[in-house]
Amino acid sequence: MKKFKMIDVPFICNNCRKNVDILGYTARDHCPYCLHSIHVDINPGDRANTCLGNLVPIGVEKFKDTYKIVYKCDKCGELHRNIMANDDSFELIISLSVIQ
Ligand SMILES: [Zn+2]
Ligand SMILES: [Zn+2]
Repeated sequence: MKKFKMIDVPFICNNCRKNVDILGYTARDHCPYCLHSIHVDINPGDRANTCLGNLVPIGVEKFKDTYKIVYKCDKCGELHRNIMANDDSFELIISLSVIQ
């Protein structure tokens, strides 16, 4: 069994209702417009988590030459981190880093 299965599919954001296109280079795991995500992964991209709560961005962490977005699930309360994508709203990333 493969541990990492990347599933990259277009979706409609649960939070802002925008159409989100596939990312291409890796599995898209959050909305590039509002940065919200859904608690679907146990390992990155595996969609194996049955929680399906909303992952709300609460901050960012510097990670190598990019950032990780820190999320809190509004259903199970678990903290989750996703690496930002190339087309994420950088203004939102910056505003999260300022607030925290
Ligand atoms: Zn969104
Ligand atoms: Zn959850």
